[in-house]
Amino acid sequence: MDLFNYSDELKFGDLHLKTDLDSGLHAIVAVHNLKFGPSIGGCRFIEYPDTAAAIRDAMRLGRGMTYKAAISGLSHGGGKAVIVRPKNLTDKQRVKIFSAFGKFVESLGGDYITCEDSGTSVPDMNVVKQHTNHVLGYDPSSGSSGDPSPLTALGVRRGIEAAAKFRWQRNDLDGLHVAIQGVGHVGYYLAKELHDLGATLTIADMNNENVERCVKDFGAKVVAPAAIYGVKCDVFAPCALGSVLNDSTIPRLACEVVAGASNNQLAEARHGVLLKDRNILYAPDYALNAGGLINVAQEYAGYDETKVREKVGLIYNTMMRIFERGMSENLPMDVVADRIVEERLYA
Ligand code: NAD
Repeated sequence: MDLFNYSDELKFGDLHLKTDLDSGLHAIVAVHNLKFGPSIGGCRFIEYPDTAAAIRDAMRLGRGMTYKAAISGLSHGGGKAVIVRPKNLTDKQRVKIFSAFGKFVESLGGDYITCEDSGTSVPDMNVVKQHTNHVLGYDPSSGSSGDPSPLTALGVRRGIEAAAKFRWQRNDLDGLHVAIQGVGHVGYYLAKELHDLGATLTIADMNNENVERCVKDFGAKVVAPAAIYGVKCDVFAPCALGSVLNDSTIPRLACEVVAGASNNQLAEARHGVLLKDRNILYAPDYALNAGGLINVAQEYAGYDETKVREKVGLIYNTMMRIFERGMSENLPMDVVADRIVEERLYA
C-alpha cells in the first residue's frame, strides 16, 4: 500500500500513530474529515496480520464514519481508532494499553472522540475515561448512552417504513413479511419493533438461543441460515454480516426491498447496480443503521432520550430523500447516498 496514494484516494484527513513501549500500545487514529465538527468513531481492538492492514482498516472505517455522520446531518466528522491486539494479552496489560490509548486520544485535543467497537467494551472505555473526556459509551450509570442496538433498530424500522411508503404507498407495516438475517443485538430489537407494528417475521441465525428468543417473543418462523436469502418476503433485513449482497446471493433474493443494519452489505459497488437491475429497492446501509451513532453523538451534546428518538426517527426522511432522488436520476441508491454526502462535504 502506498500510504499517501491511499490517503488521497479516500480524501484524508489526518493519520495519527502511537507506540507506547511500557504498555505495548500500537494504535492508529484515522481522522478523515472535520468539516462538520470533531470526528467520532469506535475503537477497534483486534489482531492484524501486519501494520499496513491495521492502518488500512482504520482509514477505511474512518472514512465510513464521515459518510454516516454526514448523511445523518450530525455536527461531527468521521474518525476511527485501531489498537493492534497483542497475542497472549493479559488483563493487566489490557488496562495499561487502554490507559495509554486514553492519553493518546487526549493528546489529539478533541479532534477525535472514541467509543466502543469490535473487541472493546464498556470497562475499556471506563479506563480511557480516566485520561480523557473525549470518550463516549463508558459506564451507563455515569450518564453515558449505553447499548446503541435498540436505537439502531429503531432507525432501521423507520427506514423500512419509508421503503414501504415509497414502494407500496403504505403508511403501516401491518402484515408485511420481513426476513431477518441475524437476530443478535440489533436483529432482536428490530424484530420487536416490526412485530409490534403487525409485521410477520422469518428469521435465521446460527445461535440457537437467539433464534428461540425470537420464536418465543414474536412467533417468528425459522429457516436455516443458508436459506434466508431465498425466503419469499417483502423485505430482506441483513443484521449479521457484511458483504451479504453479492454475485451468489442477489440472484436468489425473493424480496422487493433490502433494508437491514449490517455494515458494508454490498460486496462491491457494482452489486448496487445488480440490485437496481433486479428492481429491488436497496436502503443504503450506512444511512439506515446510523441510529447507534446518532445515539452516541447525543451523549456528546448532553444525553436526552426524547431528542435521540426524534433524531433517529428522521432516518425516515433521509431514506425518502435517497429513494426519490434515485428514482428521478435513475441511479442505484448507494450511489445517491454517496453523492448527497460528497455534495455536502466537498461542494
Ligand atoms: P450481534 O453480534 O449482536 O448479532 C449478529 C447476529 O448474527 C448473531 O446472533 C449471530 O449469531 C448472527 N449470525 C452470524 N452469522 C450469521 C449467518 N451467516 N446467518 C445468520 N445469522 C448469523 O451484532 P449486532 O450488534 O446485532 O450487529 C449486527 C450488524 O449490524 C453488524 O454488521 C454490525 O456491524 C451492524 N451494526 C450494529 C450496530 C449496533 O448498534 N449494534 C450499529 C450499526 C451497525
